[in-house]
This record gives sequence, C-alpha cells and structure tokens, in this order.
Amino acid sequence: MSRSTINRAGHRLDCRVDDALHQWMLAVRRHLHRYPELSYEEHRTAAFIRHKLAERGITGHIVGGTGVVAEIGPADSPGPCVGLRADMDALPITEHTGLPFASDHPGRMHACGHDGHVAMLLGAANLLQRAPWLPGRIRLIFQPAEERGNGASRMIENGVLDRVGAIFAGHIDTHYRTGQITVDPGLICAYADPFSITLRGRAGHAARPHEAADVVVAGAGLVMTLQTLISREVDPNRAEVLTIGSFQAGTAHNVIAGEAVLKGTIRSTDEVTRKRTIDGLHRVVGALEAMYAVRAELVFEDRLPAVINAAYATEIARAAAWETTGIDKVISQGPASLGGEDFAFYQQCVEGCLVRFGAAPAAASGPAHSDTFTFDERCLEIGARWLAQVAWRWLLQPGAAMLTGDCRTDDR
Ligand SMILES: [Zn+2]
Ligand SMILES: [Zn+2]
Repeated sequence: MSRSTINRAGHRLDCRVDDALHQWMLAVRRHLHRYPELSYEEHRTAAFIRHKLAERGITGHIVGGTGVVAEIGPADSPGPCVGLRADMDALPITEHTGLPFASDHPGRMHACGHDGHVAMLLGAANLLQRAPWLPGRIRLIFQPAEERGNGASRMIENGVLDRVGAIFAGHIDTHYRTGQITVDPGLICAYADPFSITLRGRAGHAARPHEAADVVVAGAGLVMTLQTLISREVDPNRAEVLTIGSFQAGTAHNVIAGEAVLKGTIRSTDEVTRKRTIDGLHRVVGALEAMYAVRAELVFEDRLPAVINAAYATEIARAAAWETTGIDKVISQGPASLGGEDFAFYQQCVEGCLVRFGAAPAAASGPAHSDTFTFDERCLEIGARWLAQVAWRWLLQPGAAMLTGDCRTDDR
C-alpha cells in the first residue's frame, strides 16, 4: 500500500496519479506558465482555476479580488476542516528559458514555480474528490500576491481560515532532487523587514560643496555603517542579513544631490537578533543628521513574520511525505532559508507546515526568480499526492475537529 492509506475505519485514500491525471496537471501548469499574471492581477488565472475545479464538480469562489477558495468533503459537516494553500502569482521578469510553453507576456514570468503549485493543488483536489469517503472537509486556498508579501493577509482578512484547524503547503525547490521532500519543524524561512530611508539635504553645485548638504556622501556612509550592525552587533552564530538593494539619487555629474532614497531589507532567524538589528538601524539613521547635516526618515513596509512549522503539524507532514515518496527521500532542508514566505501569516492563526518539493531539472537552469528558471515537472505528481495525503492524515487525527484557528492580526 505504498500509495494509499487505510484509516481506522478501513477506508482508503487512493493517491495513485494515472497518466490521464498526470497529463491534466501538466496541461494546467503549462497553460499558467504561458499566461503569467502579477500580484493582484491574477484574474485570468483565477478564472482558469475555477474552470478546472468545475471540470471535477468543485465550485470555486473568488475571494480577496483574485484568490479562489473551494471546499471538498461532506457538506455542512460539523467535523474538522483542513486548509491546503497554493500561491498563484508570477514575477515582473522577461522569460528567456526557450521552453515551448514560455511566457506569452514580456515582462511577466512564472519564475518561482507558483504555476506548479496551482497544478499540484488541483491534482490533490482530484485525488480527494474521487475518494468515496472523506473524514472531514478540505479547504483549497489559491492565494494571490505571495511575491508581494501580503496576499495571505488579504485572504485571512476575507475569512479563508474560518473553521480551519491547520494549514499545509509546499514550495518547489530546485536545490533538491526530484522525489525528495524537505520537512523541518521550527523556523524554516526568515523574518523579512523591508524598509526605505529618505535622505533630504541641500542640492548645489558640484564645485561648491560648502553651499550644499550632500545626500550621496551621507548615503554612502550609511550603507557602509549598516553592514557593521551585522558584523559587530549580531551573534555570529545566528543568521542575519541586511541588504541595501536600491540607492537612488542625483541627476548629473556636476550637481550635488539634495534627495536620496535607499531601499533595503533585514532577514532574521530569531526575534532577539531581529529586534537588535532593527533598533540598530533606527540608531544609525537617527545619527545621520548630526554626522552629515541631512534629514533622514526611516519607514518599514510590508513586514513578514517567519515561517515557523508547528511540531504537531510537522509530524503529520513528515508521515505524509514518507507515504508519498519513501522514507529515504524525506530530508531536512538544513539551515533556515533567509528568504521570506507569506505562508507565515496563516501560521499566526493556525498550526501549519510548509515543506519543499525537490525539482532539480535534468538540464542546467537558472535559480528561482531568474529569467531562465525551470523545474522538473515530475514534481507535480509528488506535490499532488503529498497535499492529498497530508489533508487526509490531519483529518483523521483524534480531536482534529476540536482545533480551529485564532486569527490574530497584531503582528502583521
Ligand atoms: Zn518567489
Ligand atoms: Zn515562491
């Protein structure tokens, strides 16, 4: 029974993906890949998902503008409900993969695998829908705007976690071989705190700096000083990054700039170092006026909590992964990623676990978020089977019906 599970009552969840379902998922993924849409613009994607759900007799509802939510399971059941989430947005990148189903839209590309996530969740819906009996309800959450970092929040505000006791998801990852699934308890994706700093000085002639207050020199000093927060103030055993990704100022070689805008992000793997670095950033920015006679304003925007996998949910995720792919292919991702993932917002409300699906392609390809990113499509079947298994297993837990979410909104 390598691909099925027998529950206490003797019911089975048949997780075999036959060739017809495999081809159906491939077609879904390739269609979405050809027609990518950016965060909060996923109207065609949402319509396509609803159409594909309808092919299997499932009604999908638009939620939060461009999200889609559907439920499978016994209608009006007072029993447990589990959430499965797929993100669905693309990135503002012009694709150069040369794939026969490459993006039809210059400047838009599925370069993070979210097209695959949608195909996996639709595949899981197929597997669950055909089961003669389900131990509870499964809520399918197709979420927009993960790349914007706040699509999950919008979905939660629209009630997608109401009555949901736990939530699960997976992300395609080409660092791992196809067939491998990483399952880890605790923090697996960092806190992300993006910020912008506006510097205001006095513009002037390049030859007469004494008549101006130069924001380029102040900004350059700021960039270098901020690196000392990481090298001198953070415990070197704790992973932490501060990156300035954008520094814009000035218009000409002979004009001293009067205004500059720097944008950056802090990535942290624990609350203590996160607070220390943020406090340090405030301190350094606050000192700029005294050092360079320029005014500085620091603003944080769209902060992301860390993805912290709950112990109990992780054990169920691990059992589902063993069932799906074999015990030898269920591995640890190793150290926490310093990437952000807005799945973290769901975990502030309910227990949850995010895993990674290995998907290294046979031929060389670029990393995620690059214009040559591709993945091994054989991971689609594995993702679909794991999603179906994890939902089934969670619903069968004694007491699952007692668990429902507590949707706090304070740490957004
Ligand atoms: Zn991404
Ligand atoms: Zn992603």
